[in-house]
Amino acid sequence: MVMSHLQRLGDLWLGLDPAQRIRLRQTSLASALMVVSIIVLHYAVRIGGGEQGLLLWGWTAVSLGGMAAVFAAIRSGWSLRFRDPSLTSLQIAFAITAAAIGYAQAGPLRGAVFPVLTLILMFGMFQLRARNAYALSLFALGLFGAVMAVMALRQPERYPPAVEVGHFLMLACMLPAVATLTARLSRIRRRLREQREELGRALAQLQAIATRDELTGLPNRRQMQALMDQELLRSLRHHHDFCIALVDLDHFKRINDVHGHAAGDAVLCAFAQAGQAALRATDVLARWGGEEFLVLLPDTAMPPAVGGMERLRHHTAALDIAFGGSRLAVTVSIGLTGHRRGETLAQTLERADRLLYQAKAQGRNCISND
Ligand code: GH3
Ligand code: MG
Ligand code: MG
Repeated sequence: MVMSHLQRLGDLWLGLDPAQRIRLRQTSLASALMVVSIIVLHYAVRIGGGEQGLLLWGWTAVSLGGMAAVFAAIRSGWSLRFRDPSLTSLQIAFAITAAAIGYAQAGPLRGAVFPVLTLILMFGMFQLRARNAYALSLFALGLFGAVMAVMALRQPERYPPAVEVGHFLMLACMLPAVATLTARLSRIRRRLREQREELGRALAQLQAIATRDELTGLPNRRQMQALMDQELLRSLRHHHDFCIALVDLDHFKRINDVHGHAAGDAVLCAFAQAGQAALRATDVLARWGGEEFLVLLPDTAMPPAVGGMERLRHHTAALDIAFGGSRLAVTVSIGLTGHRRGETLAQTLERADRLLYQAKAQGRNCISND
């Protein structure tokens, strides 16, 4: 109960898009860090004898307003127009500036800004490219150097020049180190992304190899078996009929013998293409083996199935296949049957095979159905 309320609140805050949620979660964390930093700075100013005037409150308002504006820019989808919709560089540059101005007010407690600065730059580790990380570190070093110089000149008792030189030297070591780590992470991220893409491609290729017939591109026997198993389950659940047809090319051996094996392959491909075009989009034509094909007609009763097979037979007989200067023709014999409730697919297939044999016996280029 409590969890579901929290979840609804989270959905309201972050939205539902997974990529946007990651960005907004990141910005929420950054905002929380900003709020804590603001509280600490107010404390530092109070105990360090700083001025609790316009600068402090103005800085507070701008810091909070800036984070709220960034959050709104992401949440509303406005930032999606940019290459990096998380606005990470902008957020980090803004936070560095806020930290530098905070440093100028913090007085004796200003050392607390350094770990915060490190944290700010660490936010870039998940998102930034190496170049941006180095640029932001350089920006931070320049800005802090300028603030330290100005403060050492204007308030040498609170910001003694010798101490500021020490602080600056520390930053000059720390910032490039963080940038280097970010750059290394960025390279690792890129390599991981490339590997993932490569794996995705390999998987797609494997899937194609496992489910497709190499020569014709049609679903192969294994895939067809799976599709028929699915159709059987569906027909049981929804009480509809389906038909299957075994399609065998007539006197195919002659084509091979007279014109060569490559000609036979060309005929198989031409039949596959023409067959698919002749069938309905929901019907599946698969290569069952050799010069034998199987058609699955889902959710189809016998009369329309006969019509479909007649179309297939007719289209095939009308084929005029060009191969190496000669023109090849081919016909098919078809054994068509409907699945009967309660029987196995093997039994249906066996009947289709018997009907195909009948079609061959009746003189080929015809359909035999029950
Ligand atoms: P029928 O009308 O009785 O079906 O006669 P058929 O010649 O078509 O049948 P048969 O079973 O005698 O011959 C089938 C031939 O198909 C034999 C085999 O070499 C050939 N074949 C099987 N697979 C391929 C293939 O992938 N490419 C080629 N070119 N030929 C194939
Ligand atoms: Mg044959
Ligand atoms: Mg055969």
